[in-house]
Amino acid sequence: MTTLAIDIGGTKLAAALVDDALNLLERRELSTPASQTPDALHAALRTLVSPLFPRADRVAIASTGMIRDGMLLAINPQNLGGLHNFPLADTLSAMTGLPVLAVNDAQAAAWAEYRALGDDYRDMAFITISTGVGGGVVHNGQLMCGTGGFAGHLGHTLADPNGPMCGCGRRGCVEAMASGRGIAAAAQGELAGCDAKTIFTRAGEGDEQAAWLIHRSAQALARLIADVKATTDCQCVVLGGSVGLAEGYLTQVDAYLAQEPQAYQVRLQPAHYRHDAGLLGAALLAQGDK
Ligand SMILES: [Zn+2]
Repeated sequence: MTTLAIDIGGTKLAAALVDDALNLLERRELSTPASQTPDALHAALRTLVSPLFPRADRVAIASTGMIRDGMLLAINPQNLGGLHNFPLADTLSAMTGLPVLAVNDAQAAAWAEYRALGDDYRDMAFITISTGVGGGVVHNGQLMCGTGGFAGHLGHTLADPNGPMCGCGRRGCVEAMASGRGIAAAAQGELAGCDAKTIFTRAGEGDEQAAWLIHRSAQALARLIADVKATTDCQCVVLGGSVGLAEGYLTQVDAYLAQEPQAYQVRLQPAHYRHDAGLLGAALLAQGDK
């Protein structure tokens, strides 16, 4: 069977045909429509999937936001503004005529990364740090989604009660401080207005403020990971996303985590499937692997 896997993020949309052995047969990518209206997303999805779906047997969607009964509910409207209550599964079902499964992107990625870890693991967490901060938790071999789809949204746990407002409406979430957007928003002076990618480049060139912004993100992540360890007793935490996989970032998180007491220590590793973990996890879940 061939799965059309779709990854809906705040910055880009990706789609791929995936076989049952998780080989990516063909992959396409588009920028997420800037207008972020339901009509614009509908049109972009049609452009993305039209060349692919005639060869697929089913559709598996991994999307940012909270997915409940196939609907996309935005936690942080800044990430996909205007798409609260977007009928994701019904839209793709009508577009393709195929059975559709929809799941949160980080939950999907957590499942793919869990399956890649091997049989010695029963408890793990996946954290993606990119435009936002997402998470997924596998506990005792089961992916936690929660009855409302909110389980594992680790980016919306508290990093600093006096921190910046998060797009979800809560003050001081990990996402508001540690995400690419959070890093960029805290930049001042000559770095004001720079995106996270530029700030990483500047840090590599020795810019002190850029290095400090990245350290602040890594420190917030390490504290989050210690909390996750205390909550789930996970055996491993996998980091993904453009910030999470940026050179040197995981090493910094590891160094901050090493400052916590022994009980909070946990093995960190980069995502095995890199930027395709969401696509492949959704495909695995659609295969009935869970
Ligand atoms: Zn938040």
